[in-house]
Amino acid sequence: MRIPFVVGNWKLNKTIAEALAHVTEIKNQLGAVKGVQVGVAPPATAICAVAKRLEDSAIAVCAQDAYWEPNGAWTGELSPQILQDAGASWIIVGHSERRQHFGETNETVGKKARAVIGSQIGAIVCVGETLAERDGGRTLNVIDEQLAGALDGVMTTELLVIAYEPVWAIGTGRTATPAQAQEVHAHIRSQLASRYGAETSQMVRIQYGGSVKPSNAAELMRQPDIDGALVGGASLEASDFIAIVKAARPS
Ligand code: PGA
Repeated sequence: MRIPFVVGNWKLNKTIAEALAHVTEIKNQLGAVKGVQVGVAPPATAICAVAKRLEDSAIAVCAQDAYWEPNGAWTGELSPQILQDAGASWIIVGHSERRQHFGETNETVGKKARAVIGSQIGAIVCVGETLAERDGGRTLNVIDEQLAGALDGVMTTELLVIAYEPVWAIGTGRTATPAQAQEVHAHIRSQLASRYGAETSQMVRIQYGGSVKPSNAAELMRQPDIDGALVGGASLEASDFIAIVKAARPS
């Protein structure tokens, strides 16, 4: 049985004080919601404070990105180890905003995934096609290329989560239909099966991301291969985020 994993990606939002207020509200409202793993990905500056605030809670603290080198002369970068030291237990890699605006390629995403998992930290590896790629009928090819790059040299899956995030659905208010998402999720699982074996592929969680909101979460989460969500905009409002977490509970 895969435990759904819902992560709020706050992106470049919230000061330390705002992050603490927000996570405290989430923690209090979440109460005893069972059967779902929950994570928050604040800006790197707030990871340490948020992790301290969550010490007595099961909510995981995630980082939004990491560099692949452990340390050294890499001005401005943060390594998996340094983020773990600050309190992160998961790291998002290959988010489409990193690919689009910061030049990340399938190859660099692979280096990051290997570095994160090699440091015994969980990796949430993002894949997803653009609108032009979908309209050109290339969705599954693009996903395959992204998976091949990201998972090259990743030998174990215990610390691996995949997030399918169609680029055209991120921050646009336009969500993939449950059928569109399920088709890609099932395809990703079949790729995982050929790489790691059928049994192992059944244990890997595949999150959906892209304009997930309280109004569409339940239907998306009901799909057999959707195991939680990576939530951007709606995670900035505690009540919306909690509603999405509740929608991910196994029925
Ligand atoms: P969104 O972002 O929920 O605002 O579309 C999702 C993401 O980028 O992970």
